[in-house]
Amino acid sequence: FDQEQRFLLAADRDGRQTIGVSPQAFLPLDGRMRSYLRPLNIMKVKFFDRTRKIVYSTDHSLIGKIDGDNTALVLALQGSVVSKIVKKGAMLDLAGEKRYDVDVVETYFPIIDGNQEPIGAFEIYVDVSQAFGHIMRVSFLSLAILSAVMLAAFGSLLLLMRRLTMQLSSAQSELERTAITDGLTGLFNRAHIMERAGDELVRMPHAGGRRKGSESLGFIMFDIDDFKKVNDEFGHFAGDCVLKETAARALQVVRPYDFVGRYGGEEFLVVLPHTGYDETYTVSERIRRKLRETPMSAPGSVCRITASFGIACTTGGEAELPDILRRADEALYKAKRAGKDRTERTDSGQAVPDGV
Ligand code: GH3
Ligand code: MG
Ligand code: MG
Repeated sequence: FDQEQRFLLAADRDGRQTIGVSPQAFLPLDGRMRSYLRPLNIMKVKFFDRTRKIVYSTDHSLIGKIDGDNTALVLALQGSVVSKIVKKGAMLDLAGEKRYDVDVVETYFPIIDGNQEPIGAFEIYVDVSQAFGHIMRVSFLSLAILSAVMLAAFGSLLLLMRRLTMQLSSAQSELERTAITDGLTGLFNRAHIMERAGDELVRMPHAGGRRKGSESLGFIMFDIDDFKKVNDEFGHFAGDCVLKETAARALQVVRPYDFVGRYGGEEFLVVLPHTGYDETYTVSERIRRKLRETPMSAPGSVCRITASFGIACTTGGEAELPDILRRADEALYKAKRAGKDRTERTDSGQAVPDGV
């Protein structure tokens, strides 16, 4: 405006300074204004006088019209700079004014005289389609990158959580397993075999007259004979190997639903659900033979061992666990006293004959 004001400043009837274009000034002003358009991406320029009349525009059809209903223009005529974005195809200021097929920013600037009074305003329309497109592309790209980053972050977080949960649950199962297992033999430990025995007792039907054996729970307590000698002769480590081998052989000959536990140092307890005396005796002898039939090897030594077995059975209900264990223990010591390497029972008062 500073450069072009000589074509635009005029005086009104009262001699006050205003915006106006004389017929002589029109052509040079129009030529100069048009030279600004393309290089600066300006679509259109309008100059308004105080009365909101368009005194000049690069769109000649608008000259002389009054923009009477334009808040932005009113604000500019009060001294403010006002900008707004007009999207492609949106309404324009004046009825009949050509719609743009590009996005524009239209800005109103006040024209101020020497006394700092607004005497008019001008408006320029700048084509921002390219900038808009660029912003949209950058926004879209940022959004895509952000989505990918979020997906990757949440995805790996989810995977990490799943892995941690799996690790936690496997650590928990390992902890539970350790709590019920004897560290040396891998059998149930004393506390757990007692718990399983107690559970089986509770589960037993109390009434008689059912299928033979199904209402009976069998117990086998066995103890390695002269185990002290194994330790003394071959060493404690060889003794440990014998204990492990004993456990493994016992597990080989019991049924899948029987429980085998380490009851003490070299003493073991087998619990046989749904098993009467005959079958308990059979299983006991199977274990006894399995232990004595082949020598056990430990590093640097071969140990031949035998064990003594005491069996007890209960038909449930009346029997308490300590009572049954006492009976099995008594039978075991009966076997020891009778010369070891055999199975005994107490309650009938009769020794079960050696099956070997
Ligand atoms: P019996 O025929 O009367 O049973 O005699 P025994 O020598 O087997 O019985 P005793 O109770 O006198 O000895 C048991 C030995 O078992 C004593 C102990 O040092 C040993 N022992 C207990 N636990 C372990 C263990 O975990 N490892 C080893 N190597 N020895 C053990
Ligand atoms: Mg012993
Ligand atoms: Mg013992």
